[in-house]
Amino acid sequence: MAAVTTESVVTAESFGPAVALSCRECGARTALAPDFACIECFGPLEVAYELPTGDPEALRARIEAGPTNIWRYAPLLPVPADVASRPNLNPGWTKLVKADNLARELGVTGGLYVKDDSGNPTHSFKDRVVAIAVEAARTFGFTTLSCSSTGNLAGAVGAAAARTGLRSCVFIPHDLEQGKIVMAAVYGGELVGIEGNYDDVNRFCSELIGDPAGEGWGFVNVNLRPYYGEGSKTLAYEICEQLGWRLPDQIVIPIASGSQLTKIDKGLKELIALGLVEDRPYKIFGAQAEGCSPVSVAFKAGHDVIRPQKPDTIAKSLAIGNPADGPYVLDICRRTGGAVEDVNDEQVVDAIKLLARTEGIFAETAGGVTVGVLQKLIKNGLLDPTAETVVLNTGDGLKTLDAVEPTTGLSATIRPTLDSFREAGLA
Ligand SMILES: *Cc1c(COP(=O)(O)O)cnc(C)c1O
Repeated sequence: MAAVTTESVVTAESFGPAVALSCRECGARTALAPDFACIECFGPLEVAYELPTGDPEALRARIEAGPTNIWRYAPLLPVPADVASRPNLNPGWTKLVKADNLARELGVTGGLYVKDDSGNPTHSFKDRVVAIAVEAARTFGFTTLSCSSTGNLAGAVGAAAARTGLRSCVFIPHDLEQGKIVMAAVYGGELVGIEGNYDDVNRFCSELIGDPAGEGWGFVNVNLRPYYGEGSKTLAYEICEQLGWRLPDQIVIPIASGSQLTKIDKGLKELIALGLVEDRPYKIFGAQAEGCSPVSVAFKAGHDVIRPQKPDTIAKSLAIGNPADGPYVLDICRRTGGAVEDVNDEQVVDAIKLLARTEGIFAETAGGVTVGVLQKLIKNGLLDPTAETVVLNTGDGLKTLDAVEPTTGLSATIRPTLDSFREAGLA
């Protein structure tokens, strides 16, 4: 695909330590460009680096002296060294919460943490990936920012476009939660509902990219996908730095397309290669909703290929029936000794309420999936409760109020008198 238009100024410094795009399948390399598929074998492209190997102490000190957002890791990302001085939503450095109450409830004795990405600017982990993609979009001279989205990405793109002065036009399934639609529309960009599910939306966007109507458009998760994906590495970096530059034993990660899970693994491997953390084994676990569980089904059946599903679950942000990175997720979970598991919608709601009740963290349905799967993995013996475990909450519960609304409400309605309060039996 040709890079676009007028003020595209790609220089050697534009992408920091990144040096090329490389194919995940055949390893063929091509120049850093708005490309996503290998011209040799059609495999997915990812960013390749010359990372600052050498003195880990100096690199650690440089990171620690950086801003309290993802740009502290600029030396490990495809962004220019001065990225922190440009307008951006500057996501990241979210809380790693030591979840002792939840640990007690679940019988985890090895230490349990919630990496709470609801604290990002648009209240989901998607701000991380968009922050990198928008830098690439500006470098390539794109004038419209776009995406196919299950909801959270649309909001993150709308906000990032507003902040950086780009036009945005994003595409979602028409029947998303009201909270997601409002969150995506409020930033003033174009929001288009498509009559179909996410996989239909994604197919439509692939067609639009090849059409003159899509010229000058940077689709963060299609033609900018290699850059977008790198944003998820910052979750791995933050978790390890917040643990005191240490790998956890086990991480539980939700799966939609599988990009986040594969890039967290990439980030952990980089930290080891750079000597920033001690090299020891870690296990990666994937979490899906039963109503959209193509990766979990393949994992359990021992298959290498993913059979697409038609999603039907309240966890709409994870409802991708044909996940692009599914085979790589299977590979990583098997290689590290982890697993992929799924929970049903009732268990998702229960897990949202469990996390809220024990730790004061209100997760969206994706967080309910992850905590529910953690619970199930402990029950079926696949996750070791005596090992240190990190579970991700990737979005804010305010986005999916409908999921918990039927099972929440007032404890009582009383007259404004003490007698009435006593009668209610709450004293
Ligand atoms: C997008 C999303 C994910 C994971 O997405 P991947 O496509 O697997 O990278 C997880 N949680 C939430 C809330 C999301 O919006």
